[in-house]
Amino acid sequence: QDAYLRVTDLRVRFDTEDGVVRAVDGVSFAVERGRTLGIVGESGSGKSVTSLAILGLHDPKRTTITGEISVGGRQLVGLGDEEVRRLRGRDMAMIFQDPLSALHPYYTVGRQIAEAYRVHHPEAGRREARQRAVDMLDRVGIPQPVRRFDQYPHEFSGGMRQRAMIAMSLVNDPALLIADEPTTALDVTVQAQILDLLADLQAEFHSAIILITHDLGVVGQVADEVLVMYGGRAVERGSVEQVLRSPQHPYTWGLLSSVPSLHGDADADLLPIRGNPPSLINLPPGCAFHPRCRYADRPGDRARTEVPELRPAGVTGSAGADGHLVACHLTAEERTTLYAEDIASV
Ligand code: SF4
Repeated sequence: QDAYLRVTDLRVRFDTEDGVVRAVDGVSFAVERGRTLGIVGESGSGKSVTSLAILGLHDPKRTTITGEISVGGRQLVGLGDEEVRRLRGRDMAMIFQDPLSALHPYYTVGRQIAEAYRVHHPEAGRREARQRAVDMLDRVGIPQPVRRFDQYPHEFSGGMRQRAMIAMSLVNDPALLIADEPTTALDVTVQAQILDLLADLQAEFHSAIILITHDLGVVGQVADEVLVMYGGRAVERGSVEQVLRSPQHPYTWGLLSSVPSLHGDADADLLPIRGNPPSLINLPPGCAFHPRCRYADRPGDRARTEVPELRPAGVTGSAGADGHLVACHLTAEERTTLYAEDIASV
């Protein structure tokens, strides 16, 4: 099956008073319908900027985008604002971390969902749009949807607001859904319910989903594939099993340290990442992770001079043909040994 979304060598730059921010620097990935890609990284890794570029939500005056973004076979880079706006909401939609930023406080929740439907279905009458909105509220598990239709966002709990946001995103049956930290603001129980809901809805709507998160635990629950980003670049990519069971990049090991139940040895801990994310205006030379990497100063390491390319991880037994990719100068053998040592040293 061909991918619904295909991003090739995406580069996103902003002009700021302090200099040029290289927010995304040569990232490629693809997502098929019915599949979920988790894009993971700390803030400033480029994960959210990637999604804003796909949706055309960046500031066109200050942003330069190169590369290719193909959605359902159409190239988006270079399309006019009007055309991208038409695709947004109909063929692709976004779920934000904070539903209050997307739901207007002065209008009832139901009216906003109905309006979102009518924007892309101008032929629909008010009654049909209202019924569609009530159906969607019901579908996302909001009790008494007819009564809830006439309530305002502040009358909803955080979890219910996020469900309403999901209802609004799905009202036009988009083929591509981008969820940016959709559960970060919610408590753990509600978080699990929302992730279950997304999985159910994907089975029904057969969307391609991009889930953006800093939390590999969330990725482990719902994603099929994982892309780990650091300093605007992809540093590891593979299936969720590959990346969580056999992580290859020292940065991924650090991210996994906060979710011990996920890595191969369930009883083990990993070393947390030290230091802070890099400046995207002045990225460290070579491997951008080297100032924070415990393994940067090994004899012969080219971390300070050469940017490691994303290559087959070459994990033993896979012969590199399994799609698991990593951008690190270490050999597969070194990574295997050091990962074991990392676990053992905690
Ligand atoms: Fe660490 Fe070197 Fe690999 Fe970069 S290339 S992640 S510095 S070991």
